Amino acid sequence: MKKLALYYEKLENEVVQCKICPRMCKIYPNKIGNCGTRKNEGGKLYSLIYGSLSSIAIDPIEKKPLYNFYPGSNAFSISSVGCSLHCKHCQNFSISQTNVENTKRFLKEKTPDNVVEMAASNNCTSIAYTYNEPLIWFEFILDTIKLAKKAKIKNILVTNGYINLDPLEELINAGVDAANVDIKAFTDEFYQKVCLTPKGGLTRVLDATEYMHKKGVFVECTNLIIPGYNDNLDEIKNLAKWIRNSMDFDVPLHFSAYRPMYKLNAPHTPYETIINACKIAYEEIGLHYVYAGNVSTDEYENTYCPKCKKIIIKRVGYSLNLNNLTQKNTCSNCGTKINIEGNIKTGRREFSFF
Ligand SMILES: [Zn+2]
Repeated sequence: MKKLALYYEKLENEVVQCKICPRMCKIYPNKIGNCGTRKNEGGKLYSLIYGSLSSIAIDPIEKKPLYNFYPGSNAFSISSVGCSLHCKHCQNFSISQTNVENTKRFLKEKTPDNVVEMAASNNCTSIAYTYNEPLIWFEFILDTIKLAKKAKIKNILVTNGYINLDPLEELINAGVDAANVDIKAFTDEFYQKVCLTPKGGLTRVLDATEYMHKKGVFVECTNLIIPGYNDNLDEIKNLAKWIRNSMDFDVPLHFSAYRPMYKLNAPHTPYETIINACKIAYEEIGLHYVYAGNVSTDEYENTYCPKCKKIIIKRVGYSLNLNNLTQKNTCSNCGTKINIEGNIKTGRREFSFF
């Protein structure tokens, strides 16, 4: 659905400049911006994807991944099409690296009201804007976030973090509760060569992530490790250090294993690489909540008490046991506050206890 865009400037000769993401696309009449979703028609910028949904699903929140935010709840997950990045290894390229024309017959048209009603009627604690990049879907998620907040449903961004701070601030003020930011690598070279951003992409992502954390959004970070591209252990150490120094020890970090996808054909990430990355972040840098994704490990799937090291949440796949977490989100053994947001007694799905 077409809707007049927010955050753009009219230049001369009916050219417009989009100000949502750091690319700042100058878009000529009848042309579409780099993300494939924002079109100049007669000197005005329109979002072509307002209310156009490519997927609707009910996911365990752990799948986002968010491990410390309403653990065990379900997230009503929606997406559209397009992206501000063009990662050669995109896992959702069929919806992210396409445009509205190519996907029109698959898209379902929904209003923000529809989305909030569906989330509520399916007992979802949150709505996750996910699968493709939500920040370029700005106008629709802004309206939906406001309605969800009124309905006491949490709002989650699963994002690449590539956004300008002004539109980000408006989203946060409207009611963003949590975000998982995919920090693709800790070198700008990776952003330029693999994600095809202009220079400075990494800095912009870090700035937006830090900004969200400062403004009270519950932030978790993900880093997908690709052999030969971003698996240097010094780089991984620097990422963990940045999280500790720029945000907090308490910000959860997920290291995830890569498998060959789309245009990138690197080898699968070895198990040892993920475990070594977790060890560096947890033991050496001292982050309190470090998790492994896409690999099977006993050690880095659980949430531990930062003080007494007792297992607070035990996970096997998407099943959880929260027996050592008190109602006040403290450790049942030593009383330490655990950085978990959300009352675990509200709206959580059934757990398999073991
Ligand atoms: Zn403890």
